[in-house]
Amino acid sequence: MGLKLSDPVTKLPYVGETYANRLKRLGIKTVRDLLYHFPFRYQDFSQVKKIRDLFAYDETAISGRVIKVEVVRAKTGKLLTKAVIADETGAVEVIWFNQPYLAKTIKEGREIHLAGKVESFGGRLTFVSPEFELIKEGKALVHTQGLVPIYPETSGVSSKWLRTRIKDILRAIPLENPEFEFLPDEILRNERFPRWGEALNTIHFPPKEEKAQEAERRFAFEELFLLNLRSLERRKSWQTRRLTQKIAVSENKEKIEQFINNLPFKLTEAQQRVVTEVLEDFSKPTPMNRLLEGDVGSGKTVVAAITAYACFLSGAKTILMAPTEILADQHFQTLKSLLEPQGIKIALHTGSKKPDKCVTDFDLWVGTHALFYKQGSFEKVGLVVIDEQHRFGVIQRGKLVKKTQSTPHVLTITATPIPRSLALTIYSDLDLSVLDELPPGRKRIKTFAVLEGKREACYHWIHKRIKMGDQAFIICPLIEESEKETMQQVKAATTEYEKLKNKVFPDLSLGLLHGKLKSKDKDEVIRKFRDGRHQILVSTPVVEVGIDIPNATIMVIEAAERFGLASLHQLRGRVGRSDKESYCFLFTEKASGDAYRRLKALESTASGFELAELDLKLRGPGELYGTKQHGLLELKVADLSDTKLLKTVRDYAFETMGKKLIPRLQQELRRFATSSVEPN
Ligand code: ADP
Ligand code: MG
Repeated sequence: MGLKLSDPVTKLPYVGETYANRLKRLGIKTVRDLLYHFPFRYQDFSQVKKIRDLFAYDETAISGRVIKVEVVRAKTGKLLTKAVIADETGAVEVIWFNQPYLAKTIKEGREIHLAGKVESFGGRLTFVSPEFELIKEGKALVHTQGLVPIYPETSGVSSKWLRTRIKDILRAIPLENPEFEFLPDEILRNERFPRWGEALNTIHFPPKEEKAQEAERRFAFEELFLLNLRSLERRKSWQTRRLTQKIAVSENKEKIEQFINNLPFKLTEAQQRVVTEVLEDFSKPTPMNRLLEGDVGSGKTVVAAITAYACFLSGAKTILMAPTEILADQHFQTLKSLLEPQGIKIALHTGSKKPDKCVTDFDLWVGTHALFYKQGSFEKVGLVVIDEQHRFGVIQRGKLVKKTQSTPHVLTITATPIPRSLALTIYSDLDLSVLDELPPGRKRIKTFAVLEGKREACYHWIHKRIKMGDQAFIICPLIEESEKETMQQVKAATTEYEKLKNKVFPDLSLGLLHGKLKSKDKDEVIRKFRDGRHQILVSTPVVEVGIDIPNATIMVIEAAERFGLASLHQLRGRVGRSDKESYCFLFTEKASGDAYRRLKALESTASGFELAELDLKLRGPGELYGTKQHGLLELKVADLSDTKLLKTVRDYAFETMGKKLIPRLQQELRRFATSSVEPN
């Protein structure tokens, strides 16, 4: 047939545009993707029962001969295909709904194998809509015998359909051929992994459950191994790059220290340590590529400010990119107040705001994605800072670096707590700095899950606090999971705002914030809230990242159960940013289930890192804290909390990188690099 793994699914028999589009919803585009669409469980039809031994609600397979078939009309008007199947121990009735054509296939006298659930109608046992296969010489049973794979499905694509297609591929391509194997022999041997082709056959159609697990272990390893090798490759290639703008540290040591001493606050020990790590990197001949990880409110911005200052002292420029305009604006203001007195010229470059064309000589560019599209390239760039990196991908990061036409130092900042073992495996190209300490005097944010019945009382309390000088955020429910804000979301926020303004807090000043506002109006609303002219800011979840308004001490989140733990923690992090007592109210209608447990976890846990671990336990592997929402990394097979596997992978990857890669592995890495699974 000449079928190749890289072929689009439309190359397969019975797969046209319609199916191709449906499969796309499952992330399946190529033949290979289909093979890597693994079952999430198996239905056990390994036992074939004698008809005499059947009992009600049994789920099993039988084998026999069709002794009667008829199509009848039920009282409801629906057509039923009824058959009677017999083996040497007895006979049993079988019915299918609405498929009169079945009678053309299932003919009297045919040998049949069927599997499914046995119901009892007035004491009479009947198989209802079971899977069936007619027995033919030389044709293996796929749907009704052994461990039958059940796949993640989508509308119009059933497990049965997937099973048939996958079986076809497994037959059409000689996967057992050693030329397909890309893991080094030594690893296969040491870890007792099944070979690639065998593993694929086994994971789809395992002879035994344990065999499926062995195959799965191999695929989990394979996935992380490739990610690890890729990040090691990136590291290697980054390190061969020559720095174009040196940042002199020792010559400017005193000035930097003076700048730090003149800050409005004393650095925490963690901040001090991270600043030292970055300055040490500056002193090396190779460009820095560092990930700064720190919980919300740990004070990451000032680290960026200090490093930008050091850069400036050497006559080099800094570019700082933030994920939203609101955040870029805020950074612009903060950095202006810290750095302008030092003679640093700062530009703000976003979709709606650009510096005057006549002036181009800036030392620090702050902006959003719009920076990519600035005319011309940036010159003499010594440092690129990317804030809240979970919103950007490797590709975008690369794009910004490219725009500098040089190799600058790169500092990537994130509040997503990536466990160290994981970071070491998938981000081995990045050096890791952790801010594990909050500025002094921060009080724990008092957090409460609030059920509907307590709403009035809660509003009353908030009203009282605001009269005493506090300010509050009220976050509207998340309507759909989407990176971009939808019109529907904006409408919901507007309705909520009207209600709160007219009915609940008529004597207070409220502002409404959403992404569809004109940039000018956005600024106005935030400015009014910042300087206290608005007492309440009603907002869509856009304020999630970064916003820093220390006087706001109350956070209300509507329909909190719809948010993931990471988002809730980020939102909560908008308050508690000073030494004032702060509160977070998580409104919810449900008092049970996983979602409620998440809210309870927030009540009792303040640390983002601890929440991350909890989230892993609550949601299970593969959905690491917020990764779904943030697209940090979606792994197909591997369990990110499996630290032992992560370590094993790391050891092999390190060793493998030290040698010359076998050609098949090299090829596989190239393919992997261009596929979409790269982490952000
Ligand atoms: P994040 O890490 O969430 O980005 P920010 O950098 O916005 O946090 O800092 C949060 C707040 O804490 C800001 O108002 C900032 O001025 C303040 N801050 C930062 N570092 C310190 C410190 N060492 N002592 C006191 N306040 C600090
Ligand atoms: Mg920040």
